[in-house]
This record gives sequence, structure tokens and C-alpha cells, in this order.
Amino acid sequence: MAKIIRRSGGRKSSVPPVPRKPAKKAVKASPKAAAKKTPKPKSSKPKSPKPKPWTAAEVYEAFSRFRKANPEPKGELEHLNPYTLLVAVVLSAQATDAGVNKATRALFAVADTPEKMLALGEEKVREYIKTIGLYRNKARNVIALSEKLIAEFGGEVPRTRAEIETLPGAGRKTANVVLNMAYGEHTMAVDTHVFRVGNRTGLAPGNTPLEVELGLEKVIPSEFMLHAHHWLILHGRYTCLARKPRCEVCLINDLCRWPEKTV
Ligand code: SF4
Repeated sequence: MAKIIRRSGGRKSSVPPVPRKPAKKAVKASPKAAAKKTPKPKSSKPKSPKPKPWTAAEVYEAFSRFRKANPEPKGELEHLNPYTLLVAVVLSAQATDAGVNKATRALFAVADTPEKMLALGEEKVREYIKTIGLYRNKARNVIALSEKLIAEFGGEVPRTRAEIETLPGAGRKTANVVLNMAYGEHTMAVDTHVFRVGNRTGLAPGNTPLEVELGLEKVIPSEFMLHAHHWLILHGRYTCLARKPRCEVCLINDLCRWPEKTV
């Protein structure tokens, strides 16, 4: 009763008065039937077209240009051996390479092996790296991973991704960097720069670093894989910048699929 009184009241409404029977029918109508009856407008939301995947020849051309411009690209994290590389990569999480280098120069001068790091102790490690973000946690990890290297790997950095990933503070990206730089494996470490470049260019679009990593591994010819990680990092760091990509000086601007590129 109360409902009927409200509907027929004087409240202004854009909805026309509902006839008794048709109202019942409208409630019963399934969404499927409704969809059938109402034809979809042809041009609803304009969808940005999916970029055309790169051809093998285009990928080859892009990496040939990277190679020509920088035949022996180097990582920017300073290190003395696989162990110090591992420590530097662990320290670099959410920190810049320059900031890490500033701290590790003095640290590695006194501790370039797991044994020496343990002898130094967590408190002193903390002192050396206190300019790096999350340094307390990172100092704990450096000591813990050094202990584990000695206890389980004879003091050496292991050579498989699965083993490296068991070390405190080391994830897939750390393992990929170490395997690539220390042991020459064809791994692809995806950091924020590589993730951006992989997606923007359309070389290996993906929602996660792992998707981009696997996509890049799939399209990049083996002959480029040793250095591909560095070429892409350096490209993202110095050319394909996050906010203002320098498309006008980009080596691969004719190949890049990004709709917002400025050339
Ligand atoms: S053209 Fe621009 S967006 Fe594309 S890779 Fe080069 S710098 Fe990045």
C-alpha cells in the first residue's frame, strides 16, 4: 500500500508513470533479452587500436642499432666480484645505482667476501649503508645472505636462479642481474625502466615484470641477449624517460609503437 501511495504522489520524476502490467513484464525481462531488443550503438567508446606486434626483422634492426651505438654496455652498479654484485643488487632495491655506489665503495673495500662481511657484523654494515633507503632491513639481509652462502654454497654465489632466489633479500630480478652480469647467462632482469620500455615500444607488452621478461626473451634474438638487458635499461634511463621521453633523439623512434611518441 505504502509503495503505491508514494509512486502516485506529487514528486517530480523523469520516469513516466508505470502502467500496472507492463511494469511486471519489465521486471521479468532477462538482461539477455533486453540486450537483444536494444541494438548497441555502433560507435560507443573509442578504443585505442592494439599496436601491431614487431616483426622479427624490426626487432633485429632495433637491437642492431643499440649494439652499434654501444657495443659493450655496462651496468652502473659498482662491484668487484659476483658476491659484491649480489650485495649491490640487493641494496639497490628502491634506491638509485649512484646512491648504492656511494655507500658500497667503502663497504666493499673492507668486505668483498661473505666471510669478511660476517666478520664486519650487522651493526657496522648498517653504518656503511645508512644513506640507502631501508638500510636496517638491507643490512640484516646482507648478513643473512652471507651466512647462507657460507653454510650452503661454499661461500660462492650459486649459478641457478632458483638457488639465488633462496637468499635473503634476493628475488627473481636480483637473480637475473647476477646470472647475466656475473655468469654471462642470457637472462632478462626487468626493472622499472625495462618494464616501461617493453610496454611503450610494444616490444613485449605485459601487466607484470614476469610477463615482460618472458615476452622479451621470446622476441629478442639470442645474439643480443647477453647485452639486451643493459641496452633496455640504459634506453629507459636516458632516452625513454618516464615523464618526458626524448623521442626526437631515440634510436628506434621509427619502430616504436607508442601512440604518444612525439615524433
Ligand atoms: S620513440 Fe619515444 S616512446 Fe618510443 S622508445 Fe623512443 S623515446 Fe620511448
